[in-house]
Amino acid sequence: MAKTPQNDVSTQPSTGWDVYLRLLSYVRGHWPMFILSFAGFVLYAGSQTAAAKWLEAFIDAVESGNLDQRLWLALAILLIFFVRGLGTLLGNYGFSYVARAVVSRLRCQMFDHLLVLPCSFYQQHTSSELLSKLTYNVEQVTGAATDALKTAVREGLTVLGLFGYMLYLNWKLTLLFVVVAPLIGGVVALASKRLRRLSHGIQNSVGDISASASEAIKGYQVVRVFGGTEAERSRFNKASERNRRQFMKMVVTQSITTPIIQMLVAAVVALLTFIAMSPTLVASMTTGQFIAFISAASLMAKPIRQLTEINSTVQKGIAAAESFFQLFDEEPERNTGSATLKDAKGRVEFRDVSFTYPNSESEALKQVSFQIEPGETVALVGRSGSGKSTLAGLLPRFYDVQQGQILLDDRPLSDYTLESLRNQIALVNQHVVLFEGTIAENIAYGSLSGASEDATRAAADAAMVTEFTERLPEGLNTLIGENGLLLSGGQRQRIAIARAILKDAPLLILDEATSALDTESERFIQTALEHVIQDRSTLVIAHRLSTIERADRILVMEQGVVVEQGSHAELIAQDGSYARLYNMQFNQD
Ligand code: ADP
Repeated sequence: MAKTPQNDVSTQPSTGWDVYLRLLSYVRGHWPMFILSFAGFVLYAGSQTAAAKWLEAFIDAVESGNLDQRLWLALAILLIFFVRGLGTLLGNYGFSYVARAVVSRLRCQMFDHLLVLPCSFYQQHTSSELLSKLTYNVEQVTGAATDALKTAVREGLTVLGLFGYMLYLNWKLTLLFVVVAPLIGGVVALASKRLRRLSHGIQNSVGDISASASEAIKGYQVVRVFGGTEAERSRFNKASERNRRQFMKMVVTQSITTPIIQMLVAAVVALLTFIAMSPTLVASMTTGQFIAFISAASLMAKPIRQLTEINSTVQKGIAAAESFFQLFDEEPERNTGSATLKDAKGRVEFRDVSFTYPNSESEALKQVSFQIEPGETVALVGRSGSGKSTLAGLLPRFYDVQQGQILLDDRPLSDYTLESLRNQIALVNQHVVLFEGTIAENIAYGSLSGASEDATRAAADAAMVTEFTERLPEGLNTLIGENGLLLSGGQRQRIAIARAILKDAPLLILDEATSALDTESERFIQTALEHVIQDRSTLVIAHRLSTIERADRILVMEQGVVVEQGSHAELIAQDGSYARLYNMQFNQD
């Protein structure tokens, strides 16, 4: 599924030009440097042509016995090399400067864009696919933008300079080159198309490689216990092999193209030699001109070869840039509301809300209606898959409803700006996400990072975080890793609750952990929850009997429908779905 969009790209009859132009738009702001480096390469190319001209002057001087020109000729060599050196310096530095700036901007823009893409995007793309775009594809663009572009400009200008000089010496003969130009162009175009297609294949396979590796690494326990080692190995090998084969195909394409073009150039030079040496022509040129002409023609072979050689790098870069631009063109989250919400009262109302996931046919929620009055706690219960998380995810607008309305403080959610709406919501997930940093930093995360030490400590106290940090030498300043490996599930949960307490938002979405905790931890979580629920509207996906019993209202969900609503006592008395669920889950004893 994740690969479909990329495959689309490779079948598009894209000329690459729109991609070039779009890439070029990133140079904006760097024009002076760009022009300076271009001028550098003009100097370089000029020095190449001047070398051919020098040869002409040298031979003519020797032939005509004009030996007093030797000082002049010797100094000219120094000048030619000085100019070439200066050109190389300016060109290299300037181009690398601009290219690195462009790449860095592309990378940051991609990351910025990832931060505003809607949830549905993240459901269609794996994290490893996106990571490989950020790392591997960026490298490909870098390659094309730095070395390849430098070679293209430098050698392209050299070819132009030499060609111009040959035209000046003998334009009729030089036109022979024009005859093969379309042939060369044809070969290059054919090769480019194939190279680009292979590049897309390689990008996909790099994504597959990282996906396969990251799953096996993250799930190492399951892999070992369920004997998945062989399957994972074979999957990884296959992805790696596919990558290798695509690369080799690229190398073959490249290796065939270069000699073909070399042969075409050689054929022209051979023909030139043959025609040029005809007695009439030899008579019409000086020996110096004649030798310089043939030298210039042969001098063109090297830059032309280099130009064709960089083609694969350029095509890789274009393919990678295409994949970037495709991502940039993904619509960001819809943020059309203009009202800013501040200090919401926390009155929530669902009015006949129906919702279907973008990639699904069946409705996940059907005509759901209920209210949460300010300060109330509403518990969602129901079997897994009944739509509880879907319902909770609609409040921070991770998805927009298609039918019905959700109101907060009596206005539709879509009236508010996303930022101000989410500012009013605290979220405690079942799977607590902890970031690299200290426990205190994890509590005062994001917009809370300005919170005072006292406030953070108070939140940590209320959420019973200090209960376990007290025993750590660094206390709240203990570092936790990407996965917070040294913490138990219950401790992570408490950190998440502390985060919510510190945020002190009028609206709380709580997805209670299902995992059974020992009675001791259970008691701590209980206390933490009591603190966080206080004085705010809470929507809780409840798994604990104590939470459910304490809720002001319970919504019983079945296949996207709220089948019963009421307090614990009322619902037990009804002896319906809730009573059955209750007996099944909580009353085994
Ligand atoms: P619960 O939280 O009660 O376990 P969910 O809200 O996760 O239930 O799921 C409700 C229904 O929506 C299920 O049928 C599930 O398969 C479907 N669903 C959940 N997430 C997605 C998604 N991202 N894309 C498509 N369908 C989904």
